[in-house]
Amino acid sequence: MANVKIRDVVKNYGNVKVIHGVSVDIEDGEFVVLVGPSGCGKSTLLRMVAGLEEISGGEVMIGDKVVNTKPPKERDIAMVFQNYALYPHMNVADNMSFSLRLKGTPKAEIQQKVKRAAEILDLGKLLNRFPRQLSGGQRQRVAMGRAIVRDPQVFLFDEPLSNLDAKLRVAMRVEIKELHQRLKTTTIYVTHDQIEAMTMAEKIVVMKDGRVEQIGNPLDLYDKPANTFVAGFIGSPSMNFIEGRLEQRDGTTVFVSKTGTVLPVPAADAAPGQEVIYGIRPEHIDHAPGGSAATISVLEPTGSETQIFAHVGQDPIVAVVKDRIPERPGETIQLRIDVKRAHLFDKETRKRL
Ligand code: ADP
Repeated sequence: MANVKIRDVVKNYGNVKVIHGVSVDIEDGEFVVLVGPSGCGKSTLLRMVAGLEEISGGEVMIGDKVVNTKPPKERDIAMVFQNYALYPHMNVADNMSFSLRLKGTPKAEIQQKVKRAAEILDLGKLLNRFPRQLSGGQRQRVAMGRAIVRDPQVFLFDEPLSNLDAKLRVAMRVEIKELHQRLKTTTIYVTHDQIEAMTMAEKIVVMKDGRVEQIGNPLDLYDKPANTFVAGFIGSPSMNFIEGRLEQRDGTTVFVSKTGTVLPVPAADAAPGQEVIYGIRPEHIDHAPGGSAATISVLEPTGSETQIFAHVGQDPIVAVVKDRIPERPGETIQLRIDVKRAHLFDKETRKRL
C-alpha cells in the first residue's frame, strides 16, 4: 500500500487546458472519490495517476516516488473500468490470472491468489464461465478480482458501476466498500454520482471545469460546502438557492429575496445591505405551523417521505418532509426553515459566508 500525492497537476490536449493545476493528498489506505459533472476532468486525472495519459505539468507521486514518466505497469496500480474490459475468449479464472501469467508468476502462487480473490468476491462457482455467461454485476466482480490478484499499492476505479441497474449499483457499492474495509488498499474512485461519492468516500474531491472546488469528508461537504457549486452538487434533491440581500428589520437581520420574501438568517458575519444567495436544503424545511406560507405546486409522495414543490411568495422552493400531506396543489401550507442549517453565500464570489 502507498500514499498518492497529486501536486499542481496540469493537462493540456493541444492548446486546450483541461486540468488547471490540481493538488490532492491521498493517505495510505484511504478511499478517495473524485466527483463532478461530466467533462470536469476526473477521468483524465485518474488516467494520469494510472499512467494512461501524459502529465503536462506538476507531479504525481505514488509511495513518495515521482511516477510522471513511469509506464503503467511500473506504477503498481490496478484499474477497474466502467466497461469491465474483460477478455471475452477467456474464462473467469483466466481473466483474473492473466496479468500474473504475463509477469511469469509461479503457477501455484497464481492459483492461490485467484482462489483468494474468488473467495472474497464470491466467484468460486463461476471460475469456468466466460464473460458472456455472466450478469453485469458478476462481470464487474471479475474485473475487481483481476485487480485484487495483483495485490497493487493502489486501486483506481473509473465509474465502475455506471453500467449497472440502480439496485445492483447499490449492492455493488456496499461490496466495494466492504472490500476496502477488508483490504485497506489505497483507492481512488471516479464517479459523477454524488450519492456514490457520499456513501463510499472517506474523502471527496469535488471537481468542476478541471479545478478542485472543495476537498473534505462527506459530511463536512454536506454541512459546510465552500460555495454554491458544492452546495448544489452534494445532496439530493439539490439545495434551494434564493437571491436577495440582507436587511435590518425590527432590530434583527433578515434575508429579503428579490421578490420580497422575508426569511430568517443564521448567525453569520454578514452585514445588512450585503447581496447574498440564501441556501437551504429541502430536508431542512419542515411542514410546521409558524413557518412561511407556501403555495403548493406539485406533491411527490414516495411513501417514506413527501417532496413538496411550492412557492413562498414568488420564490420556488422544494421541501422534503417525513409526513404525508393532506393538502392539494394550489392550497397553502406552512413551511418552516431550520434556520440553523441555512447558508448564506456571497452573491459575487458564490463562496459561503
Ligand atoms: P470526466 O471524466 O469528468 O467526464 P474527462 O476527464 O473525460 O471528464 O474530460 C475532461 C475534459 O477533457 C473534457 O472537456 C473532455 O472533452 C476533454 N478531453 C478528454 N479526453 C480528451 C482528448 N483525448 N482530447 C481532447 N480533449 C479531451
